[in-house]
Amino acid sequence: MGDKLDDESTLESLCATKGMRMTDQRRVIARVLASSEDHPDVEELYRRAAAVDNRISISTVYRTVKLFEDAGIIERHDFRDGRSRYETIGEDHHDHLIDLKTGRVIEFRNEAVEKLQELIARELGFRLVDHRLELYGVPLDDERG
Ligand SMILES: [Zn+2]
Repeated sequence: MGDKLDDESTLESLCATKGMRMTDQRRVIARVLASSEDHPDVEELYRRAAAVDNRISISTVYRTVKLFEDAGIIERHDFRDGRSRYETIGEDHHDHLIDLKTGRVIEFRNEAVEKLQELIARELGFRLVDHRLELYGVPLDDERG
């Protein structure tokens, strides 16, 4: 895991690079996103941002994450629980496994899977530029009783 301060300044400088006007409230939301190690939804982001600056409204959070998403600074995930979840787009690519029992999201990276996806794309006549992989499962321990 990277240095959080670096992540924060990176996210803010990315916003600047994209020509985004950075208000204090947007800056707070950017920092909350950058310092989140999980995949918070808008309500959770709102809770965290409002704890820093209580003038921030949930509609500001909605607008800001949309803005960041459109600018390609953050990624929206739909883990099939009816909520959009967000995380910053980092250099370290990872995929997700969702525990259907608890909703816990586990991040992983598997080189064999990465290579296989590239191979599949190539066989279909494409150079792979991006992918998304979500695995949904229940803990084996529970099934064994
Ligand atoms: Zn993730």
